[in-house]
Amino acid sequence: MTTPESQPVPSTATSQPLRILITGSAGFVGSHLVERFLNEGHTVIGVDNYISGQVSNTDLFRDHPRFTFIEADVSHGIPYTGDKLDWVMHFASPASPPHYQQFPVETLMVGAQGTQNGLELAHAHGAGFFLASTSEVYGDPHVHPQPETYWGNVNPIGVRSCYDEAKRYAEAITMAYHRSRGVNTRIIRIFNTYGPRMRPDDGRVITNFVHQALRGEPLTVYGDGSQTRSFQYIDSLIEGITRLMFVEYHYPVNLGNESEITMLDLANCVSSLLNIGVEIKNFDLPIDDPTQRKPSLAISEKILGKIEQTSLDDGLKRIVCMIEHEISESVESS
Ligand code: NAD
Ligand code: UDP
Repeated sequence: MTTPESQPVPSTATSQPLRILITGSAGFVGSHLVERFLNEGHTVIGVDNYISGQVSNTDLFRDHPRFTFIEADVSHGIPYTGDKLDWVMHFASPASPPHYQQFPVETLMVGAQGTQNGLELAHAHGAGFFLASTSEVYGDPHVHPQPETYWGNVNPIGVRSCYDEAKRYAEAITMAYHRSRGVNTRIIRIFNTYGPRMRPDDGRVITNFVHQALRGEPLTVYGDGSQTRSFQYIDSLIEGITRLMFVEYHYPVNLGNESEITMLDLANCVSSLLNIGVEIKNFDLPIDDPTQRKPSLAISEKILGKIEQTSLDDGLKRIVCMIEHEISESVESS
């Protein structure tokens, strides 16, 4: 299972053309997966109901000859009747705290019923099933950094429970279909990831800080800003996903960046990048907001090899350029 350093790491880049169905294709991560698979010659079926995604993310691929889009709520079923699938990738779920707290029932349903519908579809096609889980399954962790063997510290009835428990159930039913029905499954636990195509009103910290800084507004730091996160740029996540598809490993795998930062330091980074004085407006820390988060990457590196990480500085520069470009385009068109 280890990948010899000298060998190229197998990934979708070198495989035969595949037929891949992606739920959540109009979202941030889903749209990057669509792009990667189309660029590599695969056929992609995207499914989304736009609860937290963007039509513009579907429009990017709408005219592509190997892309089909189905607008549907996957919690109610996945209405795919086409040719045999090789993979079902289940990425549908609101992921930003303001979004999933606005739609708690829908979030639970897509983690529960949506996951089962994806597993049934994969089973019927003899396809692989790939679950996007999250570092939130560790809750507010007492073990730091978090290895996959840590069972977590989750409030089962708190405001974040609709997301955390949905993903914990999703992992459980994925393991059950693997063990009892032989489905070829994968589970990743994604740590905070950022990049282009997040909604401007996504509400997650990097998009908030960059938009606020560009508007000349104070940055909204929740609590005293001492809580930590470890941010990964989208390209590294996509690389990890495409490698894991080719490794027969059915237990959860952390995908993230080990470089950890406090939210106060993040606010300072964004301000100095934009050459503005740091102006901060403090808000209460949201309930059950994890105080620390950082992945242990031992398993990921053992089975996938080392995945190159974009530095936070470089990633932030790219995001700033992208958001500046979006703002100037919207000013020109208005
Ligand atoms: P996102 O909100 O941008 O994308 C999720 C997509 O799923 C949206 O397009 C939304 O409309 C769609 N969706 C939600 N419920 C649906 C349903 N019932 N039927 C059809 N479509 C539905 O979020 P994202 O950041 O791209 O996250 C994608 C996946 O990765 C999610 O499963 C999330 O839990 C996981 N994840 C992301 C991060 C991160 O930092 N971005 C971290 C951990 C886990
Ligand atoms: N946060 C913040 N200001 C914001 C948005 C978020 O200080 O405008 C904090 C939030 O309280 C959390 C961290 O940034 O501690 C990461 O939040 P995010 O919503 O991006 O992701 P989470 O890891 O909480 O799901």
